[in-house]
Parts: sequence; C-alpha cells; structure tokens
Amino acid sequence: MSDRFLAGRTALVTGSTSGIGLAVAKTLGAAGAHVIVHGLGSADEIAQAEQSVREAGAASARFLPGNLADPMAIDTLMREAGALDILVNNAGIQHTAPLAEMPAAQWDRILAINLSAVFHTMRLALPGMAQRGFGRVVNIASVHGLVASVNKAPYVAAKHGVVGLSKVAALEYAAQGDRNGGGITVNCVCPGFVETALIEPQIQARAMNHGGDREAGIRDLLGEKQPSLRMTLPEEIGALALWLCRREAHNLNGAAIPVDGGWTAA
Ligand code: NAD
Repeated sequence: MSDRFLAGRTALVTGSTSGIGLAVAKTLGAAGAHVIVHGLGSADEIAQAEQSVREAGAASARFLPGNLADPMAIDTLMREAGALDILVNNAGIQHTAPLAEMPAAQWDRILAINLSAVFHTMRLALPGMAQRGFGRVVNIASVHGLVASVNKAPYVAAKHGVVGLSKVAALEYAAQGDRNGGGITVNCVCPGFVETALIEPQIQARAMNHGGDREAGIRDLLGEKQPSLRMTLPEEIGALALWLCRREAHNLNGAAIPVDGGWTAA
C-alpha cells in the first residue's frame, strides 16, 4: 500500500458487488478510503465483496442496499451513506434487441437504473460536497455514451444521457472549493469492452460460432469495434477512477474519458 491519499475520505461505489464497481471499490480502499459497498447479490456475494474491499486496505467497508430502479430506495441509501467525498455511479444493466423489438419495460428499467439513478445520487450528494469544498463524482458511462451500436437503444440513450447530465453537474459546481482543497469535479469514464459478467453473454454468443472457443469469440467481438483487440481489466478502470480523485485532478472536469482501445478514435 503506497499512497493512502484517500485517508479520511468516504466513497460510495454503486454496483460494487461485482465487476468494475468492485474493482473501483478495492482501488479506492487501497488508497485508504472508507468505502460503502452497494449493489445486488446474495448474502455470500455481498460478504465477499465487503471482505475483499477490506483486504485491499480500506479504512472500513460497509454494505448498504438499495434498488436503483426505485427513487425512494435511493433516498434511503443516500441518507444512510451520510457525508460523501467520492461518489462513483457505476451500477448498470444491459438488454440487447432491435429497437422495434425492445420490450418497453426494458427501456424503462435501463433508463431508471443507468440514467435516472445517476441524477438522484448526484442531486443528493453534490450540495454536501460543495459545502465541504471537496468532491469527486466519477460516472461510469460507456463508449456507448459517445457513439452508438445497433440493438442497444435504451443503453445508448441512457449512457449519452449520463455524459450530458455529468457536464451540467460539472458546470454547476465548477467554481466550488479551491485548488488546495481539490474542488468539486464530475467526470465520466467511457469504457469499451471490459472483462466482466455484463458482456459474458455477448462473448458466449460469439464463441458459439467458433465451436465454443472463448478466445476466438473475444477476438470476433472486439474485431468489429475495439482496435486494440484487448479487453480492459476492471482494475484498470479502477486506476483511472482513483486518479480522478486526486487533488491534482481539480481542473479535469466535465470530461468523458474513453478507455476503449481506440474505438472512438476511428
Ligand atoms: P456487472 O453486471 O458486473 O455489475 C453491475 C453492478 O450493478 C452489480 O454490482 C449489480 O448488483 C449492480 N446493479 C444492477 N442493477 C442494480 C439495481 N437495480 N440496483 C442496484 N444495483 C444494481 O457489470 P459491469 O460490467 O461491472 O458494469 C458496471 C458499469 O460499467 C455499468 O454501468 C456498465 O454499463 C458499465 N460498462 C461496462 C462495460 C463492460 O464491458 N463490462 C463497458 C462499458 C461500460
């Protein structure tokens, strides 16, 4: 454990029972933060997530529940979380289907969890950050906040929404705090393909076309979009989120940072 620059800070990472969120929670924990773990999962999965954040070096790790599809549950979550220095909006879901065949209920659910929840948590967290003169909001959007792909209408709409919403929040709080204190920033991280359970169904579908060869399935999937042909690891997103939390990042604000192997450079 080298640089515990987050000692004394409290971070909430939504959807940190697995995948990118868990990796971000561990990374912030390793830098000394008190981490609030949140998300869905079995009692075992939740206990394991808390334990791994503690083992990473967090000053403390405590789980809070809250279904992000329900604004009332978000109110309760944010009240129980208390004063936050860092808010990472990471929880998200996906459902793929052509636009005309997309169930309306999936549209509503994806917009609620992937977009409206980000509005609600920011609405409740930012005033306190402004009062204390320090705050970091890191919204895990997606490359699909910057460009589109077929069959992902609600996901692409929600993630574009997160990028726009984050810019508004960044502008509204930009002048709060000062350089020594670190100020308030709101940024998006926009990953391409990251190796987590969320994209496993897409990998498996491609692998089926290659006699079940998973590696061939990954090459096939990435070949269309991600020029590096490499998936990002969740902890690599964690490293970027951590850097955004540094005092030195006080003027990196309102950005949507692609981590996409060159996808959006084309
Ligand atoms: P994941 O499925 O591993 O994790 C999602 C997390 O969100 C879990 O902790 C889950 O419990 C939580 N969650 C889902 N619905 C919830 C709800 N209603 N209430 C509370 N929590 C809920 O997925 P991941 O790949 O780690 O994705 C994390 C974020 O990164 C998502 O916003 C996703 O859109 C984004 N992202 C992922 C990729 C990728 O390739 N994996 C790429 C770009 C963006």
